[in-house]
Amino acid sequence: MSEIIIPLHGLTREGQEFDFALDDSFLSGFGRDVLEGLDCKAHFRAVSKGGWIEIACSVTGNAKVQCDRCLEDLFLPVEVNELLTIRFDAEPDEVVSEDDNDITLREGTAEMDMGQTLYDLVCVSLPMCKVHPEGECNPEALARLSKEEDMAAEIVNTPFSGLKDLIDSKKNNKE
Ligand SMILES: [Zn+2]
Repeated sequence: MSEIIIPLHGLTREGQEFDFALDDSFLSGFGRDVLEGLDCKAHFRAVSKGGWIEIACSVTGNAKVQCDRCLEDLFLPVEVNELLTIRFDAEPDEVVSEDDNDITLREGTAEMDMGQTLYDLVCVSLPMCKVHPEGECNPEALARLSKEEDMAAEIVNTPFSGLKDLIDSKKNNKE
């Protein structure tokens, strides 16, 4: 349960605005698989459409992720603008269906926790390939990583045969 709660009862046709800060404490509820840090503002405008609700959602700020190339911190701009529709169904399940931006809730649901929806929208908005611009990766981290790769390759192709030949040839020289 996050702190991003939007009341669904009492919304007007003129709409109501809601603002939330999305920071690292928001992330603590979702693990840090993709997002390691977050400094964003979320803005909602919720409008009653008579029987259903339309929520315009925008998120702007910065996200901290891990660079896929050098594994160091990478800060990416976040820009989300989505239109969500909330419909109601008499089915007893709290969330009857959730199909992208069309959300169906149980009839009479008084409020909606937008935390998971926001988290997903921010993750999806980031580029698939998360890397620093060319030439801006941490050179020390890159050097360390390539050294580790070389060592891993050496372990796989250890030239024992070459070493044995060398020892044999020394023995032969002595005899
Ligand atoms: Zn990098």
